[in-house]
This record gives sequence, C-alpha cells and structure tokens, in this order.
Amino acid sequence: MSHSATRVLVLNSGSSSLKYQLLDMRDSSRLAVGLVERIGEQTSRLTHTCLGSGDTREQNGPIADHEAALKAVAEELTKDGLGLDSPELAAIGHRVVHGGMFFTEPTVIDDAVLTEIERLIPVAPLHNPANLTGIRTAQALRPDLPQVAVFDTAFHTTMPESAARYAINPKIADRYRIRRYGFHGTSHAYVSRATARLLGRAPEDVNVIVLHLGNGASASAVEGGRCVDTSMGLTPLEGLVMGTRSGDLDPAVIFHLARVGGLSMDEIDTLLNKRSGLFGLCGDNDMREIRSRIDEGDEEARLAFDIYIHRLKKYIGAYCAVLGRVDAVAFTAGVGENAASVREAAVAGLEGLGLAVDPELNAVRTDRARLISPAAARVAVAVVPTDEELEIATQTYALVGTGSGSAPVGNNS
Ligand code: ADP
Repeated sequence: MSHSATRVLVLNSGSSSLKYQLLDMRDSSRLAVGLVERIGEQTSRLTHTCLGSGDTREQNGPIADHEAALKAVAEELTKDGLGLDSPELAAIGHRVVHGGMFFTEPTVIDDAVLTEIERLIPVAPLHNPANLTGIRTAQALRPDLPQVAVFDTAFHTTMPESAARYAINPKIADRYRIRRYGFHGTSHAYVSRATARLLGRAPEDVNVIVLHLGNGASASAVEGGRCVDTSMGLTPLEGLVMGTRSGDLDPAVIFHLARVGGLSMDEIDTLLNKRSGLFGLCGDNDMREIRSRIDEGDEEARLAFDIYIHRLKKYIGAYCAVLGRVDAVAFTAGVGENAASVREAAVAGLEGLGLAVDPELNAVRTDRARLISPAAARVAVAVVPTDEELEIATQTYALVGTGSGSAPVGNNS
C-alpha cells in the first residue's frame, strides 16, 4: 500500500439503503458523504455531498440493487476527483451489525470472515444479509483493497456472563446461540471515550452510563472503558422504549398474542419491532413531533413521552447499581443530542443518585460535546455527539493504515 493512502470509505448497508462517508484520516476530515435510499424500488434516490466544494447532487430513478448503488456512488465520487480507483484510498470499512461471540475486534475481511458473518444470519436476519451484500459489492469493485468489518456487537463482548446470559437452561441457550449481545457498540465505544476526554480523564479511570437515544435506543454501563452491561439483547428489541420497538416486555405477551389474539409469529415480530414504541403508543416516532403535540395538550403523546422517560430512568438507576460508582451520564444520538426536554425529564428527581442538569446549560444548542450538570454536581451529565462513521474509519485505518507500517493486514480474529 502506498504511504499516501490515507482515505477510508465507510459503508453502512441496510436492507434498502446504503450510507457512505469518505474520510481523510490525516485529520479525520470528511471529504464526501451520502445516502442511497429505496434501493430496489422505482423511486430510489442518491444524495451526495462533496464537502470540499460544498456541492450537493441528487439522483432520482430506479437503482436495482446494492451493486448498482455502489457503482452510482463510485461515479459521484469520481466526479469530485475522489474515485474508488484513487491510490489515496487505503481501505473500506463496513459496519456489520452482528458479530456474535466470535468477533471481538474490527477484522480484515477474508473468506473465513465472510462465512462467519453468514453463519450469524439466523440471529440477525434483517441486518447481516444487507451487510454481506455491501461487502461483496465493494470487493468486486476493488478486489485489491483491504476491507474491514467493524461490528456493532464487538464493544459488548466484555460483558460478564452474569450480564450476558438470560436465566434459561445454558445448554438450550448455547445450542441456539441465545445470549445478550448488545448493539450500537461502535457508538457506545466512541461516546464513552469522548466523555472521558471531556472530563479530562483517561477512559480507564472513568465509569460512564451512555444513553444512545436515536430511532433505535440503547443504554450501556461502561466501567473503565469496558462495557459491563447494555440494554439490547439477542436482538435490538430489548431494553428502552424506541421509535418503533417496544423494548422490554413480559415474554408472555408474545404467547398471549399468539394464543388469544391468533397472531402469527411474523405478525408479532412486525408488531413489536415496527409498530410499537413511541409510534405504537401515539402514532408518531419523531420526538420533535411528540413534543409539539404535548405542547398542544395531546394526552396520547404525553403518555408516550412519560412511558419513554420512565423506562429510561429505570435503566439509569439500574446502571448506577451495576457500576457502583458513576462519574458521568452521557446523552447521544438524535434524541439524546437534541431533545433537552428528554434529558431534563430523564434525570429529574435523581438528585439522590448525584444527578442533575442545569437548565441553562441544558438549553444550549451546539454540535460540541458539553457538560450540562451544575458545577458542583457529584456526577457529570453530558451531551456527547456520536460519530459512528468516524469510529469505523478510525478502527479500519488503525488496522490497515500505513502510519507505522507495522499493522498487519490479515485476519486478526
Ligand atoms: P437513527 O437511529 O435512525 O440513526 P438518529 O440518531 O438520527 O436515528 O435519531 C433520529 C431521531 O432523533 C428522530 O426520530 C427524532 O426522534 C430525533 N430527533 C432528531 N432531531 C431532533 C430534535 N431537534 N429534537 C428532538 N428530537 C430530534
């Protein structure tokens, strides 16, 4: 690899979408960002922005599959002089949702790695197939280039068995690979470290509760830089109330819906993953919409908000207990970074746990990591913007980048 190869392309392939960012790792700057939506439909759309020129271009019309999508992205990059054939491209980093127990680190992709990601499809039926398609497409376009998989589950593989196991027969659990894997790990890793930096301390010295509140939402307890518990489980359905997912519920609700309600397993799956959470409770899953309905006196939106906050509080309390000593609580992702009302409500009444927010600091709007707790607070409360793409690029480049010339290129799993 050339020593001038400092760019990393980050790809996040969903079932019908492809998000991408091209970064220059000399200064972690973004060169281009974009999104292909509704792949496989007649109304596909590619939105591409070149950060250097500030140009944004949009392409509407059918894009048949991920291969066509990535080719279209490559053409857009070429127009900006940032083509995939550039010698400056060092690697492609792929977000892969499920790495099971096997992948605890970012991993250079080879055939064995692809086979293992494929073996995990039964526990991630929606995500891993799309991630695999993205990887294979990128490999076909640049077979010579190192491709790295960065797993959403990896950060959580440090959880002790007491937190990772469900209380079911271990033989049955092992046979079906049932355990709590956790997700959003790239974000929890990035935000917990960024929080330590904000406090001016080393990650090893701080205990942080990270609240990743986006459309999907999860909490994690991070002790000295290592994850010791997280709210998502075998799948992203467990834990907090989310945009469209129920989060925790009595598993018997499922038997009841099947036996008494006559719903099929697929119907229940769709109900709990796509038609529940904030959306199921009040018909909206966007926190902005819910807040404005509450301001207009809408009771349904109010109850949805209250249920969301109640669950969030329970997890904050639980993770205070799991950690024993908490140095910081960090809010991140779309809701966590933007919704001051959610942050305020989530810690209201938790002074006994050392938690409080300063209303003025909480109301400040900025993209920077910041403290929102009163100066004298025992526990720092912070807003820490997440950056999963930068984290994927950083981990990818650390594995294959030229810098020291000592990083091995091979399967490190
Ligand atoms: P994803 O899980 O899709 O990556 P994000 O982290 O981007 O989601 O979060 C998206 C959610 O963030 C939206 O559904 C919305 O509820 C919330 N959100 C975004 N901007 C704001 C805002 N200004 N105020 C309140 N909530 C917001």
